[in-house]
Amino acid sequence: MNFSDLGLEPELLRAVTDKGYDTPTPIQQQAIPAVLAGRDVLAGAQTGTGKTAGFVLPLLQKLGQRKGHAPRVLVLTPTRELAAQIAQNARDYGKYKQLRTIVIFGGVGENPQIQALRNGCDLLIATPGRLLDLANRGLADLSQVSHFVLDEADRMLDMGFIHDIKRVMKLLPPSRQNLLFSATYNDDIRQLATRLLVDPVSIDVAPRNSTAERVEQVAFRVPKEQKRHLLVHLFGHGATDEGQWYQALVFTRTKHGANKLAQQLEGAGIRAAAIHGNKSQSARVKALADFKAGKVAALVATEVASRGLDIKELPMVVNYELPNVPEDYVHRIGRTARAGATGRAVSLVAPDEASLLRDIEKTMRQPVPFRELPKFAAPLANAATPQPAPAHADRNRAPSPPRRPSFSSGRPARNGGRASGPRRGGAGGRARST
Ligand code: AMP
Repeated sequence: MNFSDLGLEPELLRAVTDKGYDTPTPIQQQAIPAVLAGRDVLAGAQTGTGKTAGFVLPLLQKLGQRKGHAPRVLVLTPTRELAAQIAQNARDYGKYKQLRTIVIFGGVGENPQIQALRNGCDLLIATPGRLLDLANRGLADLSQVSHFVLDEADRMLDMGFIHDIKRVMKLLPPSRQNLLFSATYNDDIRQLATRLLVDPVSIDVAPRNSTAERVEQVAFRVPKEQKRHLLVHLFGHGATDEGQWYQALVFTRTKHGANKLAQQLEGAGIRAAAIHGNKSQSARVKALADFKAGKVAALVATEVASRGLDIKELPMVVNYELPNVPEDYVHRIGRTARAGATGRAVSLVAPDEASLLRDIEKTMRQPVPFRELPKFAAPLANAATPQPAPAHADRNRAPSPPRRPSFSSGRPARNGGRASGPRRGGAGGRARST
């Protein structure tokens, strides 16, 4: 199937060709005709499936020409990064049309956003908090919205946006087209879908909690205090002697942990940057840009910050700490293996995280094989850490192309002797990462 089979107009087909897309992804094949037909859509699709083009392309077509002042498409997203990325996509896909897209999120000065709203737009991509703030002050007019998209709805609910979403919905005209995208389903999402959607077309390209099948996953059993030394070793040698890593997205649970690890990696000669909710928007943008440009080898991120990061050709995701919520693991490893690529995920599992891994395996209905711990210089307490030559010690060295070694080339470690840790329990056990 080609994009031209989907009923898209020539301006959009040209833009898609410019992006280098040959074939529509499964979500695009199903969503584009449904949205063009004016149907409400309930789509189970995670980031990496091409879902953004799945709704942006047909909505650009439905908008036709530039018209009026107030936005006619509203896309709500959980994070600023995702909002910025969707807006960029809308501009790319709409480059041969005259439509205006603006993006609104918190954490940055509001004046340019207010000015942009005054200038008028056709598409508005926003996070809920800042949008409500501006709407309540009469600065954002949502009365003309005829197409409403709730993207990553599961994450929005996880982040506590349900009341904001309902408030935004009250500001919209009752008659409109609604699209809801969610990587996972639970009762809350179903309830929201029932409230929002009228006779929706259901599309499911990522059945609940199915993990990205193309991601090769391995785990190392390693004491907490040795994780950073193992990580330095992995950067230098790879997970299975495949050679040094070019780049990896490394997940920690806390903002503080992300900062600390980025500093420690820098100290070991690995160019690193942290990205999390406490960083200013400009610091986040810079960290991401440096990572994309290959100037940074390790991007250390927390859960929330990772959402919506669109990094092409990301070869490696490292779970430096396992997430408390199994679904987050699926999202994390979904950062790699995007749109047709293959990817790898390495988890460093401390003894007290063994039960988290079991929960993850149960959720994915798939084991994550352990590998034998490679020999790496074990640190002496409070001593300078003698380490193998770090991968990125030479900061002036031009980055080499990403390696794509296969885990399956090595000998898998036996899975039988899994470390058993205390079971996570109590109400705090599922506290979400920041
Ligand atoms: P998304 O799931 O919307 O975040 O898209 C994930 C990545 O896939 C983005 O980098 C898109 O540019 C890319 N992409 C989207 N559609 C296609 C397609 N039909 N062919 C190739 N790449 C695509």
